Amino acid sequence: MANLTAPIALNRPVVTAEVAPVAPALRVTEKPVMTQIREIHATRSIPFLAFHLVAIVGVCLVPFAWKWVGLCVGMYYLRMFAITGGYHRYFSHRTYKTSRAFQFFMACLAQSSAQKGALWWAANHRHHHKFSDHENDIHSPLHTGFFWSHVGWILSTENDRTHWELIQDFKKYPELVWLDRHQHVPAVALAIGLFLAGGAPALFWGFFLSTALLWHGTFTINSLSHVYGSRRYTTTDTSRNNFWLALLTMGEGWHNNHHTYQSSTNQGFFWWEIDPTYYVLKGLEKVGIVWDLRKPPLELLEAKRISKDVRDAMPRNVSEAVRKKSAVH
Ligand SMILES: [Zn+2]
Ligand SMILES: [Zn+2]
Repeated sequence: MANLTAPIALNRPVVTAEVAPVAPALRVTEKPVMTQIREIHATRSIPFLAFHLVAIVGVCLVPFAWKWVGLCVGMYYLRMFAITGGYHRYFSHRTYKTSRAFQFFMACLAQSSAQKGALWWAANHRHHHKFSDHENDIHSPLHTGFFWSHVGWILSTENDRTHWELIQDFKKYPELVWLDRHQHVPAVALAIGLFLAGGAPALFWGFFLSTALLWHGTFTINSLSHVYGSRRYTTTDTSRNNFWLALLTMGEGWHNNHHTYQSSTNQGFFWWEIDPTYYVLKGLEKVGIVWDLRKPPLELLEAKRISKDVRDAMPRNVSEAVRKKSAVH
């Protein structure tokens, strides 16, 4: 299999063990461009709310069976893996290498979660790391409020376009560009497949409810993981490590680790930091489907932690800032 990718350096993280500033320092000098009025658009929010309505009403109306709950949970974690292992650790950060066929498969599987195209997702995520918690960050709880960082930014047409300038390395694959332009095809195909296989219960539990839960599981990394949790490393953003979010997101909850060293395939840096996405990728490595998984440098693992005083102070102060911001949005 040919090597299709090479590591790329986006923003070089601050990797020091110095005391973190309580208010995150800005690391970019460009003038903020995200100062326009943020609006949630009906064309986005009505289908989004309708989908949630189906998920909520369906719990009461659709027949219950444990096998359907299992299908719901299974489809949640299968597609969560595609989001974290595909959209995030592969397309956004290129932390490992794989074949053209498998990257297309991962893009299709992740897009069946109806979270827009792989290239749109990865480009926006690269934008997040470039401007983390700066005013240009499109989903910073610190600057835009909690609601906007969780879901508001997706419901705005301002963020519809794919930042092609940030995803040039994958733009050369026509199949990925096609998928990005026909973003709903994998999700519709999954919904039809589930209906044909198991009728309305399979469609509801495996697609509608599972997908709605998956949306919010993914969104927590943009919102909650920049507000609640601990900070091991000094970074110029508000990223945090959170065990509970790691369980929900197959390892993405170690967000302070990730903001510190984005090129690492594993986001749980130590054995006790559960990272199921990484475990699956290691299994795929053993059978030759992926290769060249990257690890954090040793000096990072040995870097001493930030002081307890600052670690204790940061969540409280940032939460307060987010609450005030949310109150005006
Ligand atoms: Zn990232
Ligand atoms: Zn982040």
